[in-house]
Amino acid sequence: MSIFKSINPYTEETIAEYTAHTPSELEQRLAKGHRAHQALKQTSLEQRCTWMQRLADLLKENADEHAFIITQEMGKTLKEAKAEVLKCATSAEYYVQNIGSMLAPKIIKSDAQQSYISYEPKGIILAIMPWNFPYWQVFRFAIPNILAGNAGILKHASNVSGCALAIGQVFLEAGFPEGVFQAVLVNSKHMEPLIADERVQGVTLTGSTAAGMSVAGLAGKYIRKTVLELGGSDPFIVLKDAELEAAARTAVKARFQNAGQSCIAAKRWIVDQAIADEFTERVTTLIQQMSQGDPILQTTDMGPMARPDLAAELGHQLHQSIEQGAKLITGGQRSGANFAPTLLSGVKPGMTAFDEETFGPLAVIINAENEQHAIALANQTPYGLGSSLWTSDTGKAAKLATQIESGNVFINAMVRSDARLPFGGVKQSGYGRELSQEGTHEFLNVKTVYIA
Ligand code: NDP
Repeated sequence: MSIFKSINPYTEETIAEYTAHTPSELEQRLAKGHRAHQALKQTSLEQRCTWMQRLADLLKENADEHAFIITQEMGKTLKEAKAEVLKCATSAEYYVQNIGSMLAPKIIKSDAQQSYISYEPKGIILAIMPWNFPYWQVFRFAIPNILAGNAGILKHASNVSGCALAIGQVFLEAGFPEGVFQAVLVNSKHMEPLIADERVQGVTLTGSTAAGMSVAGLAGKYIRKTVLELGGSDPFIVLKDAELEAAARTAVKARFQNAGQSCIAAKRWIVDQAIADEFTERVTTLIQQMSQGDPILQTTDMGPMARPDLAAELGHQLHQSIEQGAKLITGGQRSGANFAPTLLSGVKPGMTAFDEETFGPLAVIINAENEQHAIALANQTPYGLGSSLWTSDTGKAAKLATQIESGNVFINAMVRSDARLPFGGVKQSGYGRELSQEGTHEFLNVKTVYIA
């Protein structure tokens, strides 16, 4: 029987322990989820929107309490955690206002009297979610799917069970019938019975590429549709005509927020060699000004990483990169889950910090000879999630954007997810999209209706 421990990564105290659900408890939840889906698809969209609006209101009213649960379990600063909860609330409101048009039947002219596409829910969607944005990753899947009539079962990361249960509670408090959204406590090694179950009609996973491979393999075995949002090693490209101060400030934010633990963090700063020294000076100053410490304090810019093992792995990647020739500019210290904001320069292909995803507060500067070299370096990765390109010539940027192998390109801005825009990757970063109309349709039956 697995026990899931929630441990505060800053104080190292055990907050709570949870026992995994037994096979019969999982069966009860599947049965409940199935019944809830059958009932949900008969309810009006208006009713579902009323519940969702109430959910948004509850998240706003209780944002501080939810933020505290997040900070306790995974260590991001309280102010970041609160912003995450509020983003879930405003995104819920966005879908309440826009889901109608996303689900409206689409008339297509053919040789029929009438032919159209109807978007219909399929059943339970299993969401396997990570700890880094423990509310947002869940809500960005759950909001559109539940509004569309699917039920959700959440298998959350085993270090954030408190978040999982609190999210389940909000759905009930908002008025959604029991079973519409449920959290299950299950070991990630025991996912096959859930994926194999006919009542589960899709699986969405956000996490490491290794987890994605395992889940996609099982989903393939049972013909379950999957959406995979996996790792990334996003380039942040600064060309020599970029507005340097804005680029430097955004680079630091895009790498160090959430203690660097974001799939779309700016993991590789690729900088034109003509401006590399000046850029390095500016970012070094900004990094050294960051205050690291207790994530509960409003004055703290960066808390600990979510677990000591993740910090140890980053330390290993850092030391390997230094041995391979990278230069440590600032940071590098580690104690438990606390990892100082760190900067390396002189990073090149073949070094660990270039070749692998680094999931923590480690920024690296890679010099590029010119624009085309910068793009080639950007693409020299197995990943393809996000990318950021900085130049004052937006016409040129739009052309260069077409050459970047990634699911999104942000020009003169940091990559972020937005309820209105599709989000997802290519290559080893996964497939399928979340959010927007494209994401909403992923787990629906796109049904052709043909009236002769
Ligand atoms: P994992 O990918 O292991 O965890 C993410 C989720 O997947 C968790 O719910 C986990 O459950 C589950 N999971 C893991 N393995 C399997 C499996 N074989 N079958 C089904 N579910 C599985 O991330 P880690 O916490 O171990 O972090 C390791 C690395 O993953 C990070 O350093 C980073 O590179 C990447 N990552 C990427 C994220 C992203 O946003 N794209 C988010 C988090 C991590 P459980 O916790 O119970 O194992």
